[in-house]
Amino acid sequence: MSHISYVNGRYLPHAAANVHIEDRGYQFADGVYEVICYWKGKPIDYKGHIQRLERSLSELQIRQPCTMQALTVIVREVVARNRLTTGHIYMQINRGVANRAHYFPKPSVKPSVVVVTKPVAGPSDAVAEKGGKVVTAPDIRWERVDIKSVSLLPNCLAKQLAQEAKAFETFLHLPDGTVTEASASNAWMVTPDKTIVTHPADGAILSGITRATVIKLAREAGYKVEERAFTLTEAFAAKELFVTGTTSFVMPIVQMNDRMIANGSPGTVALDLRARYRSYVDTVDPATAWDL
Ligand code: PMP
Repeated sequence: MSHISYVNGRYLPHAAANVHIEDRGYQFADGVYEVICYWKGKPIDYKGHIQRLERSLSELQIRQPCTMQALTVIVREVVARNRLTTGHIYMQINRGVANRAHYFPKPSVKPSVVVVTKPVAGPSDAVAEKGGKVVTAPDIRWERVDIKSVSLLPNCLAKQLAQEAKAFETFLHLPDGTVTEASASNAWMVTPDKTIVTHPADGAILSGITRATVIKLAREAGYKVEERAFTLTEAFAAKELFVTGTTSFVMPIVQMNDRMIANGSPGTVALDLRARYRSYVDTVDPATAWDL
């Protein structure tokens, strides 16, 4: 069975799925995207992802290519054609194709739409149970990281640092030492008094969909959760560190740069939240999972 992707109205073999060379996504990174976990036959937090997509489009004044109901029909068709059972859905909407000029095309052009599925889900339980390492790097991104834009070069540079250090992620920090988030996930710590802390979704981070669900699950389980900034110094002294994201779920972090966090094993809070998140995704109801 060939892998089918959707591009601008057509379902094509993945290898033949192309966009135009004057697509503004290609020339200016003028586009937005979403990555949605598809787990045992249903999307996870679909509505939250679509709401964030609508917000990203609106913040960049990119027209909606169609209604979100119509987009959902397309997404479901790509999922069905690829017989996806578990993996992820990638969707990207660019401002469209126009003669190269920095300002927005006037009159506006039709936005480009791409939907791709991949049968790859997050890190295995075996990887998570060992925990991962993070390295640290200055957060050199622009000031609109709240928008899920495809302008990801600083994130790529940061992830490459992790790759070279055989680390799972890179924690990004401001000049004052504040940890904002990681290159492709949200950053968390557990303080010595067992408070769970993550940066507020105030514009300095991407408001993660997994982050919101994990906050809810943690509070329901009786944990104290604080949305506040924390520094690298606090992170080094933390009881636990972990990251969350669509492709990582909850991933314990046991080492930052050359220093072990606590005793260097995944923490009980991170493992508990990972288990809670796993049972949450397992119990998402397929009957309502696509509801907007
Ligand atoms: N921060 C950044 C920079 C990301 O790229 C991601 C992954 N898209 C996240 C956080 C986590 O967001 P989510 O839980 O919605 O995947």
